[in-house]
Amino acid sequence: MVRQPIIAGNWKMYKTPSEAVEFVRRLQEASAGVDNVEIVVAPPFPALVPVAGVLAGSFIGLAAQNMFWEAEGAFTGEVSPVMLAEIGCRYVILGHSERRQYFGETDANVNRKAWAALDRGLVPIVCVGESLDEREAGRTEKVVTAQIQGCLAGLPADAVAGLVIAYEPVWAIGTGRTASPADAQEVSARIRALVAELFGREAADRVRIQYGGSVKPENTRALISQPDIDGALVGGASLKVESFAGIIRETG
Ligand code: PGA
Repeated sequence: MVRQPIIAGNWKMYKTPSEAVEFVRRLQEASAGVDNVEIVVAPPFPALVPVAGVLAGSFIGLAAQNMFWEAEGAFTGEVSPVMLAEIGCRYVILGHSERRQYFGETDANVNRKAWAALDRGLVPIVCVGESLDEREAGRTEKVVTAQIQGCLAGLPADAVAGLVIAYEPVWAIGTGRTASPADAQEVSARIRALVAELFGREAADRVRIQYGGSVKPENTRALISQPDIDGALVGGASLKVESFAGIIRETG
């Protein structure tokens, strides 16, 4: 099964709308000619509309970093999947560890959001990953298994096939400490085996699994060449055109 690699830049709470627009203009030039890698950027909410304008018809896709599950309503401060779909988002990141850590995101919430996203034609990028304590206690597989079961509960197999799952060990995010390719592969293979158990072989063969956590151009190739790693979710290194385009080129 050939899965197209997907490199997504999670900008977190960085870049104003004008900085974001300037960035994607430069990224389009810097990544032109790489046609075997799907490229996605996830700017903060205020930048989504202007960036969507620049990216209209482009090979670079747009993602939101979060959303609520309701279509509309009295939910001050929230953004709905209907709104994201209308402005041209193709993806939405769900369950990032920072949302779990600082904003109380749970697997059950991620599951509700995943249903709502799929219902509106958005593709969830579902984030899972263990903390340092959990890894050191030998609980990585248990933790990631519970996250996948909770986040994907009840979803139709064909929807799961189209998902992106980002395996991001929390201790590797923003720390400069990358998981070794072998460790990242081991957990990714476990995730794919679990998807096969829960949703069938076809969904497991098609679902794309990204690695995330201190990805940079220098470590991209070793990670991407692992059989069960189909791309990267990139934080810090996605904020500079040179390093993000470098990761994209190393993948292609
Ligand atoms: P990082 O972040 O690349 O800065 O480690 C990854 C992420 O949070 O998705």
